[in-house]
Amino acid sequence: MTGSPRPARLMDGTALARRLTDETTAAATALHRRTGTTPCLATVLVGEDPASVTYVRMKRNRCAQAGIRSRHLALPAATSTARLVDAIGELSADPDVHGILLQHPVGPHLDERAAFEAIAPAKDVDGVTTHSFAAMGFGLPGFVSCTPGGIMRLLDEYRVELSGKHAVVVGRSAILGKPAGLLLLGRDATVTYCHSRTRDLPSLLREADVLVAAVGKPDFIRGEHLKPGAVVIDAGYNPGNTGDVHFASARERAGLITPVPGGVGPMTIAVLLAQTVRAATRQLGLD
Ligand code: NAP
Repeated sequence: MTGSPRPARLMDGTALARRLTDETTAAATALHRRTGTTPCLATVLVGEDPASVTYVRMKRNRCAQAGIRSRHLALPAATSTARLVDAIGELSADPDVHGILLQHPVGPHLDERAAFEAIAPAKDVDGVTTHSFAAMGFGLPGFVSCTPGGIMRLLDEYRVELSGKHAVVVGRSAILGKPAGLLLLGRDATVTYCHSRTRDLPSLLREADVLVAAVGKPDFIRGEHLKPGAVVIDAGYNPGNTGDVHFASARERAGLITPVPGGVGPMTIAVLLAQTVRAATRQLGLD
């Protein structure tokens, strides 16, 4: 195997997320000093799925640390789509709420898309509405899906040149792969999307100057699949703290690589907090 001469440099998402959160905390404090308003994120959870309960608790704790209020709405698992849409509609209309996060996936009996669309675009700090997605596609201001937003910040932090580069995104989910590809396209990368029906994935992977792995399969991409010197963003987070990229072999070949944990993961909440304070700032007419 022809490796790059040295192991890849790590892209430290923990450090960048901490810096971004420090900036967000300062912005929240300044906003409060200027207007008397504390930014508020409403979290909505349907049912009691343990992982979802943990994620919401984590997000609320991080809000508190950053000087953001959170208001939690816990709905029973048997909640109907109509009730959920109404509840989110009320939060959308409430001037004391600046951002809304519906923890997903919601139960299979619910129309998740209908629930997302009940979020007012100005409060869509998780970037899940059709409006936000279209704005991102058109390159207009708006809120982006948090994990892809975090990936772009990491690429910028490490000054990765994107214009004209071949970016290969493995995965096309609405919250991760698809928006990540659109954001890369918006920065003039040439983007290839790969998914479960893609033929000859290894040959496409070997062409990637920038590779985004968003598959949900542990160690799915290995060093031998990579172009030497590639920038490897591992968005995967699988049981046992394992990414979608086999880290040891990929690090021998890549130029830059995100570790798991400590790469993309911490950026997601940091972007959520940043977007919440931005939403509050805009709603107060100050942006
Ligand atoms: P998802 O909705 O399950 O999407 C997985 C994607 O991978 C699909 O587009 C699927 O293709 C594709 N895929 C599956 N098998 C493949 C194969 N053999 N070859 C090529 N593509 C294949 O997952 P997701 O929500 O996007 O999440 C992906 C990973 O990111 C998971 O590990 C998740 O935990 C992690 N994640 C992390 C964060 C974070 O904050 N760090 C946030 C969100 C997700 P099809 O479309 O054809 O089915």
